Amino acid sequence: MNVYKCEECGEKFKKEQLDPELFNEGEICCKNCTEFLLESGRDFVDPDHNYDSFEDWEENGG
Ligand SMILES: [Zn+2]
Repeated sequence: MNVYKCEECGEKFKKEQLDPELFNEGEICCKNCTEFLLESGRDFVDPDHNYDSFEDWEENGG
């Protein structure tokens, strides 16, 4: 069975445990790390969490 090494955390994952969008772009990143990176990005643009979600910020903030 093929496993892939996450470029962020270095753990090995099966394909279905990786972020499919990033995988299509040729990046190996597990879903845990993707979520973590998204949260970090959100904290960066919205440190006080004025918006419900990153999508909310994209639509109403920014
Ligand atoms: Zn990872």
